[in-house]
Amino acid sequence: CGVFGVYGHQDAATLSYYGLHALQHRGEESAGICVTNGVQFNYHREMGLVKEVFDKDRLASLTGDMSIGHVRYSTSGDSRLTNAQPLIFKYRDGDLAIATNGNIVNAPLIRKELEQTGSIFQTTSDTEVVAHLIARSSKDFIEAVKDALRKIVGGFAFMIMTNDKLVIASDPNGLRPITMGRLGDAYIFASETCALETIGAELVRDIGPGELLILDRGGLREDRFTEPQRKALCAMEYIYFARPDSDLNGANLHSARKRMGRQMALESFIDADIVTGVPDSSLSAAIGYAEQTGIPYEMGLIKNKYTGRTFIQPSQELREQGVKMKLSAVRSVVSGKRVIMIDDSIVRGTTSRRIVNMLRDAGATEVHVLITSPPFKNPCFYGIDTPDRKELIASSKSIEEIRKEINADSLAFLSPKGLIKAVGGNSANEYKGGLCMACFDNDYPTKLDFGGEEKRSF
Ligand code: SF4
Repeated sequence: CGVFGVYGHQDAATLSYYGLHALQHRGEESAGICVTNGVQFNYHREMGLVKEVFDKDRLASLTGDMSIGHVRYSTSGDSRLTNAQPLIFKYRDGDLAIATNGNIVNAPLIRKELEQTGSIFQTTSDTEVVAHLIARSSKDFIEAVKDALRKIVGGFAFMIMTNDKLVIASDPNGLRPITMGRLGDAYIFASETCALETIGAELVRDIGPGELLILDRGGLREDRFTEPQRKALCAMEYIYFARPDSDLNGANLHSARKRMGRQMALESFIDADIVTGVPDSSLSAAIGYAEQTGIPYEMGLIKNKYTGRTFIQPSQELREQGVKMKLSAVRSVVSGKRVIMIDDSIVRGTTSRRIVNMLRDAGATEVHVLITSPPFKNPCFYGIDTPDRKELIASSKSIEEIRKEINADSLAFLSPKGLIKAVGGNSANEYKGGLCMACFDNDYPTKLDFGGEEKRSF
């Protein structure tokens, strides 16, 4: 998901529209903006893309100078309107809105406890447990928020808004990215820096693990709800998820992906005629591989921009349809050539097999697949939509077995060390480069306390 917040700008809704549009790649199922003028909430949420959900008149009706907004894809809870965020609640004498990027691992457990003691939930979204925890507390609002955040386990970036306060929080490991910018006197918060750039805001800094920022009439207060744990920013943000023009932890994504491609070349050199990347996320890595090896980079695959991203569609059936709709091989580029195809990950293997076969059908004489991440063996519990372990091809098959399954002439993955080295950034000397690598190495940075409700297999 993607979140976007504004404090202290009279065009909060319109800025949110542009900001969420820049974050559209993080979720295409629903979009929502909630604005307050200090007295009441004005909000709108709907299924669909940002540009479908909001028009000029709708934005004009969302008056106020503080806002939170959200684009969603479902990792927890169904894909339906009641789960579209920001979630809105009545709270004490006013209102409460919450928008999250991430996933709460122990939400089923907390929800069960709350339901047994009388809470009635409106949604199936894990975010709602936080609203209930806040509402049940007799402490003042900020202390109630801190208590609630201390109870939950997972990867999350929260935006919580009342009629007079905006609170931004990052989980104790900093698993999900969240960044702060300034636009004149206003404060802007976004999942990625590309959204700041889009509205002309200046990047101030990333929000760190366990931080809690409070904005109200007193200005900005930098606080925390817990001590930071091991820093573990999601490696898949670098590999796949974030936009190439965003910066994460001081490193530009396009440059980091290029370094992954260069590192891949150092680890796995293949003698071939052209290098091509699977659009969009692997183009930067393919350029890096080509630069390092001197093998020409070519546009061997073209993406139709007007279809959804396969990784974030909710069902397997849609996912499989998605591949057919969205990619084509460029026959005149690949025909008669030995092709190196760079991709960011292999999840089930079905997408890779389709693309390899597409290149072969277009006349490629050899197709060598290089993946700029280690084998994806373990499910994510922190907000990236991955299937159960048993559906992850690398959890049960060797590299040679995967190669056969995807019909490639050769297959290699980037090493975990190579990935950490390529990502670099400001955390090069931290444990695992400050990254969560759990989907590759099974070393989850948090407890995985599902309370017996979680169906995923280990
Ligand atoms: Fe990211 Fe993988 Fe960690 Fe999930 S398990 S947060 S996808 S690195």
